[in-house]
Amino acid sequence: MPDDLIPVKPEIAAKALVNKDRYRAMTEAAAKDPEGFWRKEAERVAWIKPPSRIKNVDFTGDVTIRWFEDGVLNASVSCLDRHLASRGDQVAIIWEGDDPKSDAKVTYRDLHARVCRLANAMRRLGVTKGDRVCIYLPMIVEAAVAMLACARIGAIHSIVFGGFSPDSLASRIQDSECALLITADEGRRGGRSVPLKTNADEALRGCPSIRNVIVVKNTGGAVPMQEGRDHWYEAITAQEPAACEPEPMGAEDPLFILYTSGSTGKPKGVLHTTGGYMVWASYTHELVFDYHPGEIYWCTADVGWVTGHTYIVYGPLANGATTLMFEGVPNYPSVSRFWEVVDKHQVNIFYTAPTAIRALMRDGEAPVRKASRKSLRVLGSVGEPINPEAWLWYYRVVGEERCPIVDTWWQTETGGILISPLPGAVDQKPGSATLPLPGVFPAIVDGEGQVLEGATEGNLVLLDSWPGQMRTIYGDHARFGQTYFSTFKGMYFTGDGARRDADGYYWITGRVDDVINVSGHRMGTAEIESALVAHAKVAEAAVVGMPHDLKGQGIYCYVTLKTGEEPSEALRKELVAWVRKEIGPIASPDAIQWAPGLPKTRSGKIMRRILRKIAANETESLGDTSTLADPSVVEELVQNRVG
Ligand code: ATP
Ligand code: MG
Repeated sequence: MPDDLIPVKPEIAAKALVNKDRYRAMTEAAAKDPEGFWRKEAERVAWIKPPSRIKNVDFTGDVTIRWFEDGVLNASVSCLDRHLASRGDQVAIIWEGDDPKSDAKVTYRDLHARVCRLANAMRRLGVTKGDRVCIYLPMIVEAAVAMLACARIGAIHSIVFGGFSPDSLASRIQDSECALLITADEGRRGGRSVPLKTNADEALRGCPSIRNVIVVKNTGGAVPMQEGRDHWYEAITAQEPAACEPEPMGAEDPLFILYTSGSTGKPKGVLHTTGGYMVWASYTHELVFDYHPGEIYWCTADVGWVTGHTYIVYGPLANGATTLMFEGVPNYPSVSRFWEVVDKHQVNIFYTAPTAIRALMRDGEAPVRKASRKSLRVLGSVGEPINPEAWLWYYRVVGEERCPIVDTWWQTETGGILISPLPGAVDQKPGSATLPLPGVFPAIVDGEGQVLEGATEGNLVLLDSWPGQMRTIYGDHARFGQTYFSTFKGMYFTGDGARRDADGYYWITGRVDDVINVSGHRMGTAEIESALVAHAKVAEAAVVGMPHDLKGQGIYCYVTLKTGEEPSEALRKELVAWVRKEIGPIASPDAIQWAPGLPKTRSGKIMRRILRKIAANETESLGDTSTLADPSVVEELVQNRVG
């Protein structure tokens, strides 16, 4: 594995908000005097009443997590009102449509007015503090408006990704008994339309809690409207005043619910509250991306995922940033699209997922080189371990060795980034998420919960709370304790495995459930996948364990080749030898299946749970596949399973 250090660049450090000295000072301060540290950091949001109590946390018993609990604020004020005097005419959101010819710019003043109009309309429909509002929208400005309008009136938003089916939408609405749904006639992605209203109508047959539906006219496609229930967004907001009194919210009042993507099982309604989450969103967005006023910042996620919540909307807007919202996909109309958008809007900070990077690598360097990309300054990655090969491609080809890469490890549950390099303070290693942010206390424990010191490998836990931590699973606090705090007493268990090297750097090895045990040797799937992806002909790989008479578990690899490469027996042998050489004979693949596509969640993560079943020939019981982006991929893999 490449373990080479890529030092902080002096020119980045010189201008960075946090350099090495400051990073050390912050890390020490946050450990020695957390109350003092977070009291000061809490000043980054606008309080109606600043908190006097900072932290009240107990990871044992019923599990209590409270931050800034007697503070009062409104998240939309932090994102909008307080910027009006200083930067009302600055662009808050650059919207780039699926069609490269369509875009829009919304200033802070415009955004404030649009949020207030919708907030007033929602109040008029009877939505009040604590009500749940489901948002099922494409990546259009109204999605951000809807989130902030909910925050404005104290309604709890629950966003369901626009690619989800009617069933997935219905179960999420039912779980949190939403009173209102905000959707659109249709969405657009990659030149195709997505029938949002039709899906919503189907879902709502089983959702009696929904009293009203607000529909954005987006494509103009014809959709049926149900009298008394459905309202056009334009019509219902047009007459509303562009000012709206914000609801005073306790710091621990809920801001949103977000159902996890479901790579591992039944979705959970992750609940985040207002004060701590907002502080965390602002703190991490500014530090990790080294955000300087005036910069153009682009996170390619969808607002349906937590990354979109924290790093398209709440974090950037709290920091007065210009945030780019992209309706489309990386390969439409061509695989140069990302880089064309970077040039068009002069993007300085770019944040995407390894799945997108690997997909673009398949098509080589030319589509990237076509664009200038000179505006880029910092690159980010999130969602999965980034294989060193993909990291280096991102670094060399996309960033031309000029841009630091922040590999950000975090979860829906953590609200924001916990482990990541800071561009001006932490030397990078390709494939490592590096070090915790100041105020984050990870540890690696063995199966019994013993904290392991020094260079080691095991289960990744957090020993103490941070303000952005989730507070509960909506409606099921017992499941919250059971899921996250019962495996290792008094610690938050992430479900991920990690290795820590001699420099204290963390390497996420994948989900603990995905660890393979070959003849008593425990191996993370991420390492074997990275070895495969490092081969010149391999675009993507997924590795799982399969039952094996002698070894206990054998290694089953699904391999997607780069565009233009053909599978062959010779190549299969070559790959087996390659992995043996890269990692060692113990990691020898027992089976390699050529996979034209891999089953992924709609956020682009490989669903190894399903691949394990196929490898084990348990194809009768594949479990819940409703969150898959393309279920037909599974059929193909089942047909062509090896052995
Ligand atoms: P579910 O919990 O429903 O199965 P999920 O875990 O995929 O879904 P998220 O909260 O979006 O939902 O993803 C968090 C997980 O993604 C982490 O626990 C980790 O496994 C992985 N992950 C995220 N960022 C990184 C990263 N930079 N490096 C390695 N793994 C990462
Ligand atoms: Mg998870």
